[in-house]
Amino acid sequence: MDEKNLINKRIAAIAPSVTLGVTSKANAMQAEGKKVYSFAAGEPDFDTPEHIKAAAVKALAEGKTKYTPVAGIAQLRSAIADKLSKENGLSYTQNQIVVNNGAKHSLFNVFAAICQDGDEVIIPAPFWLSYPEMVTIAGGKSVILHGDEKNDFKITPQMLESAITPKTKAVVINSPSNPSGIVYNGNELKALAEVAVKHGIYVVSDEIYEKTIYDNTRHVSIGSFSKEILDLTITVNGFSKAYSMTGWRLGYCAGPLKIMKAVDALQSHSTSGAVTFAQYGALAALKGPQDCVATMVKAFDERRIYMYKRMLAIKGLSCVKPTGAFYMLPNISKFGLDSVKFSELLLDAHGVAVVPGAPFGVDTHVRLSYACGMDTIEQGMNGFEKFLKEL
Ligand code: PMP
Ligand code: GLU
Repeated sequence: MDEKNLINKRIAAIAPSVTLGVTSKANAMQAEGKKVYSFAAGEPDFDTPEHIKAAAVKALAEGKTKYTPVAGIAQLRSAIADKLSKENGLSYTQNQIVVNNGAKHSLFNVFAAICQDGDEVIIPAPFWLSYPEMVTIAGGKSVILHGDEKNDFKITPQMLESAITPKTKAVVINSPSNPSGIVYNGNELKALAEVAVKHGIYVVSDEIYEKTIYDNTRHVSIGSFSKEILDLTITVNGFSKAYSMTGWRLGYCAGPLKIMKAVDALQSHSTSGAVTFAQYGALAALKGPQDCVATMVKAFDERRIYMYKRMLAIKGLSCVKPTGAFYMLPNISKFGLDSVKFSELLLDAHGVAVVPGAPFGVDTHVRLSYACGMDTIEQGMNGFEKFLKEL
């Protein structure tokens, strides 16, 4: 067989996830007994709240161990519809919601469902590194739109409008953002929504960090402004970040019925419905007490404040102030190394694991997650600062 044709060309074009790669490298070094301060994983360090675990255990004990409908159990879809209506001002019926195996899977399904060969998807940079790869797999073409760092990396309606071509199918909005932690305000989103409506393009709104938000910042859902924008918006969310349920693999998407039917059909031939008893856990997450979310966000906030102070104290470094998610994206361009080399040397020299900015579309930056203990942050920032002084 011709080796060149062995791997499907779309799959051959993608790279493995660097966030997961750096995280497992840091874990492997730790397992070898090396001291590693890992700012790699975008994963809350808290255990899943007890009442959520108890609901899944109860479901298992009750024999909730069979396949569910592909789109998820009716109670969960109904609870998601309620949540989206009450908290986000988004009016979706239950059949406009599909539960998936993590929000990553939701996004994968959505891009697969909407992209025709060569369709363009506008992705503001810096971006979560999986978006362009998902678009490639779906046969689409990513159009990267660089936000100005002076404007907190945000894209403006003018920038969006000038990136739109007859081939544009969708724009991705991720607020709060991974990797920059910036949050668009209501007016900014409304102006972007108006451009999307004017040109009839879809908005894929990844709202996975909606609850991880600080400084009295308010999360606004872009689909909430009018019926016109709602009809063009696919809202993606999940349980990993807000409820510390990364390993449960549960996310969901909500959008126009035709698209959701396509997502359902696709999922019916790939993963089927999400894990049955996990869905009961997710139901408890939505219906149960929400103070666990506030407790985690408070802890993230303390770490954010501390880490940001340390960032500002480092000569030559600049960093946009994050008001959401749990990442910081300092600009390392004054230190003369690209982000991959910088990250490799930092890990080797001081055991500090950060994720290079290159796969997020910003080779002049590195990403640090503060979803780790304060001790790691203190010691890791000591190593980070020392490394920069030595450069
Ligand atoms: N979107 C963003 C912006 C993310 O950072 C992540 C990372 N976990 C996801 C989606 C997917 O999350 P999950 O698959 O764990 O629900
Ligand atoms: N989304 C998290 C991150 O950016 C988890 C890893 C991943 O799925 O990419 O680190």
